[in-house]
Amino acid sequence: MTSLPPGSTIGIIGGGQLGRMLGVAAAQLGYRAHVYAPEESGPAADTCADWTQGAYEDAGRLAAFADAVDVLTYEFENVDGGTLETLSQHGLVRPNVEALRIAQDRLKEKTFVTGLGGATAPFAAVDSLADLEAALGRIGTPAILKTNRFGYDGKGQVRLRSASEAAAAWEAVKGQPCILEGFVSFDAEFSVILVRGIDGEVRFWDSPHNVHVDGILSTSTLPAGAQIMEQVETARALARQVVDALDYVGVLTLEFFATAQGPVFNEMAPRVHNSGHWTIEGALTSQFENHIRAICGLPLGHTALAARGVQMRNLIGEDAHEWAAILADPANHLHLYGKHGARPGRKMGHVTRLEL
Ligand code: AMP
Repeated sequence: MTSLPPGSTIGIIGGGQLGRMLGVAAAQLGYRAHVYAPEESGPAADTCADWTQGAYEDAGRLAAFADAVDVLTYEFENVDGGTLETLSQHGLVRPNVEALRIAQDRLKEKTFVTGLGGATAPFAAVDSLADLEAALGRIGTPAILKTNRFGYDGKGQVRLRSASEAAAAWEAVKGQPCILEGFVSFDAEFSVILVRGIDGEVRFWDSPHNVHVDGILSTSTLPAGAQIMEQVETARALARQVVDALDYVGVLTLEFFATAQGPVFNEMAPRVHNSGHWTIEGALTSQFENHIRAICGLPLGHTALAARGVQMRNLIGEDAHEWAAILADPANHLHLYGKHGARPGRKMGHVTRLEL
């Protein structure tokens, strides 16, 4: 197993804030980052050496991009599996294409995880209104209809309080392939964030307690409370099975509900994740640095907490206008993503506060 020496070029598919923070970590370790994204520019442009503008469906352009870099990774998972297959023929893709295929499709993801013995919400595949009505008969209400693909931050989801809402819900998802999930009555949400190296070594960060508002992550807090702490071991055991089964390389995040019956898997992201942003100042090695280390075949850094307590708060929409007040408190670490236009629901930055 060989490592890619500093000076090599890391290709990143997607040019948002995750790419921006990966670019910083790559530069710190002496690598050059090269972004491929459909936009002309984006948050990652400030920290990455090169930017290729191209559509995610443009296999020829993506293949040329893959040929120009030494390893490929992604900060955005809605790239067509076939396109990634082409990429893997032209270069080293980490995490691998199989991991991406599973994680980008809610039905595949939940089927995979239940196959490993993990607990999930009851679910059913929905490809028609008749499927939805049958699934509601089996799963009951309340329930959530989610598009299998392209959903994030609560987008592509419709909540159903009664079976009479089926037709309206099916219309709202515009007939896309979906999954119906029973509503999980949870006490709290948490994530397992891990990194796996090319030699199979796995390191876990402490699990944050995550609070979502309107389907968007609002805060991640550590240490989490007693109930989450008690469920982390079971959740980690499942996460380890997932990464070993996929021969995964890089950072992986799994989101869980803490319930009276134990941890219930919700979804996973085959990449660095918003609930791991606190690791930049709050852990000995950040998720971004360890992701770069892993995909370049370098030894992994310690993941332990660097403070007694940590809280990360997302700055959504106009929250970012508070930057001066945030900086007036020296305990705060402000991260702004350089986005123009503080639209409601848009992630503009985050602030991390350490309790020493
Ligand atoms: P997701 O995009 O699947 O992560 O959903 C966004 C948020 O919606 C989650 O973090 C939960 O707060 C909530 N949610 C999603 N699925 C369920 C479910 N089956 N039961 C209860 N709440 C859910």
